[in-house]
Amino acid sequence: MIYRTPEYCRDFRCIAGDCRDSCCKGWEIDIDSETAEKYAEIGGEFGERLRRSIKNNSFILTEDERCPFLNTEGLCDIYINLGRESLCCICSEHPRYFEWFGSVKEGGTGLCCEASAELILSRPFTLCEEEVPDEEASGEYDGELFSLLLEAREAMLSAVNDENIHIGRALGQIVDIAEETQQYIESPSALKRKVYYENDTIREIFRCFYELEPIDGSWLPYIKKCEEALISAPPYSEEYTPYIRRIVSYFVFRYVMKSVYDGRILGYTLFTAVSAVFISWLFRCGAEAEKLCSFGECALIAKNYSKETEYCEENMEKLLELFETEPFFATEAIKTVIAKSFGENVGEI
Ligand code: SF4
Repeated sequence: MIYRTPEYCRDFRCIAGDCRDSCCKGWEIDIDSETAEKYAEIGGEFGERLRRSIKNNSFILTEDERCPFLNTEGLCDIYINLGRESLCCICSEHPRYFEWFGSVKEGGTGLCCEASAELILSRPFTLCEEEVPDEEASGEYDGELFSLLLEAREAMLSAVNDENIHIGRALGQIVDIAEETQQYIESPSALKRKVYYENDTIREIFRCFYELEPIDGSWLPYIKKCEEALISAPPYSEEYTPYIRRIVSYFVFRYVMKSVYDGRILGYTLFTAVSAVFISWLFRCGAEAEKLCSFGECALIAKNYSKETEYCEENMEKLLELFETEPFFATEAIKTVIAKSFGENVGEI
C-alpha cells in the first residue's frame, strides 16, 4: 500500500508535559475493544487502578475533565507503567488522522494539537509517499471520480502554494475549482441557490461561529472580543500569508479527497476558504495594538480554531450544511468576502 502524507508529519513529536492544552483533557476518551480486553487482564495494583477508572469502555474523567491517567507533570501513567504499546488506539494515534482509498492511504497530523499546529504553520507544504507493506487495501470508490478529485486537489494545492499568486486570488481559484468539480458530481443542493451579499459579511461569518457548540470555555468570549476589535483591526499583513497558505493546504489535503465517498467537495472547500478568512481576522484582531501576532500566537489561534470546528463532528456538520445551503456562502458571495479580507479583487478572475 502507498502511504501519502505531508512531509512535516515525519517530524511530529508530542511535547507531552510541555503541552499547554493537552489532548488528555476535555475530551471523552473511548477505549477500543481490543485494548479494553487487554486492560481487563492487567494484574497488580495498576490493573486495579485501570479497572476502577474505566466505565462503559471510556476513561472516567476527573471533575476538571482530565484523563485519570494524566499525572501532575502532564505525562501519561499508562505509558509510564505499561509502555506505549499499551495505549488504546485513540491515544496512540492522536493527533494523527488517516483515510483509505483502496490501495492508497493518506494521513497526517491534525491542526488541533499544539505541536502539530506549529509544524503545519512553520513548514512549506510538500507531500511525500512511502510503501507500507503490511496493510490491506480498504475502501471502495468510483475510480473516475477519484482521478478527477486528485486532479482538482493538485490544482488547488499548486495555486495555494504558488507565491506568485496572491493569497486572495488563490483562494478564489480553489473555490472555482471546487464548484466546477461539484457540477460533475451533481449535488444540486450545493449549487442551486441564490447569491446573497451581506453588508457586513465578516460579522455574518462571526455569527456562524457563535452558533456552534463551544468545546473550550474560553473560545466564545475570545471570538466575541475579536469581533469587538474588528472596527479597529489593522489591515491584513502579508507576513501572515505563509501561515494562511499552509493552513489552507492542510485543509485541502485532508478534506478534498473525502468527497469521493460523500460528494461534498464544494462544502469542504468553502469550509477551507471561510476558515482562512476567519483565522486571518483572528490574527488581525488578536494582535496587540501596532504589533503583529507572533508565530506562536498564530499557531495557537489556528489550533484553537481547529479544535472548535473540525474536531467536533456536530460543529463540522453544522458548518458544512451552512456552507452548502446558505445564499450567503454561495461561491460568488464568498469570493467577495475573500477580496475584502485579503485585499485582492478575486471577483475578476
Ligand atoms: S495535544 Fe499534541 S502535543 Fe499536546 S499532549 Fe496531545 S499530542 Fe501531545
